[in-house]
Amino acid sequence: MSATPEGAAPAKINLALHVTGRRADGYHLIESLVIFAGHGDRLAVEEAEQDGFSVTGPFASSLPADGGNLVLRARDLLRLHFGAGAQSPVMLRLEKNLPVASGIGGGSSDAAAALRLLARHWKLGASEEDLARLGLELGADVPMCLASRPLVARGIGEKLEPAAGFPSLPLLLINPGKPLETRAVFARLQKRDNQGLGPLPRCESLAEIIRWLRSTRNDLEAPALSLLPEIADTLGLLEAEGALLSRMSGSGATCFGIFESIETAEKAAGQIRKKRPGWFVCPAATLSAEPSHG
Ligand code: ATP
Repeated sequence: MSATPEGAAPAKINLALHVTGRRADGYHLIESLVIFAGHGDRLAVEEAEQDGFSVTGPFASSLPADGGNLVLRARDLLRLHFGAGAQSPVMLRLEKNLPVASGIGGGSSDAAAALRLLARHWKLGASEEDLARLGLELGADVPMCLASRPLVARGIGEKLEPAAGFPSLPLLLINPGKPLETRAVFARLQKRDNQGLGPLPRCESLAEIIRWLRSTRNDLEAPALSLLPEIADTLGLLEAEGALLSRMSGSGATCFGIFESIETAEKAAGQIRKKRPGWFVCPAATLSAEPSHG
């Protein structure tokens, strides 16, 4: 049904994010090249006598473990929509490996994993389109997290076009340990009618992708920086350790660096961990556009 490994809720990275306008209802229109890391949260579901939910992992304590959690909201939405077939009690176990409110879509990815796993567990026969439509009720980024392959997102993030041929990239993700609310960052945005991304790069070499990325931006970087000056420090660390390109993802504060190889990303991670103990420092190869046959 999906190329994503069972239970994986990978980190989402906006390689480029242009804000192109605003809808009458206040939602921002975007164009974004989005990829996913081979690292993220993990969700497991099993049959139970009664419903249960547990959250473990390094970022468990910064999360609601009650009905406000997107995992439970996804479960309840499926029950509402599919009725009798989606009622048997389930135990859901979330391992929270991604920092919360950090611009890498952990919550949306958890919601997507919950929809995917529970649809299979309850044998709902839901298509990917059905799940994407439902997921959009939980958040604009949930449909892209259901796809979890390189793509261009337009509209409010729900119009998805696969980025065919996009390769795996060696990345380093860094978060300075302070949450940023997406809404607060958008509220600081000055210009909302920027140009779109233009045609995607030919993906034949890393150099070509980097060259193309330099012609793009994350329009949320400046407003996020005005709220959290540590973002400048984060970007500076990536550059100092040899990133070919460094930028903020989503509404921040997580920044990514693209490196020549996963080995150089790991080496840089070691240096940055020494300089900033306690920060989230995560080297990861990203998921390529090629479908998995596993
Ligand atoms: P985006 O990049 O899509 O803007 P984000 O990475 O900045 O997202 P998330 O970590 O997805 O932010 O969290 C957004 C909000 O959702 C937080 O305020 C958090 O309390 C809430 N939330 C509810 N459930 C979850 C969950 N399972 N994981 C993370 N956040 C959750």
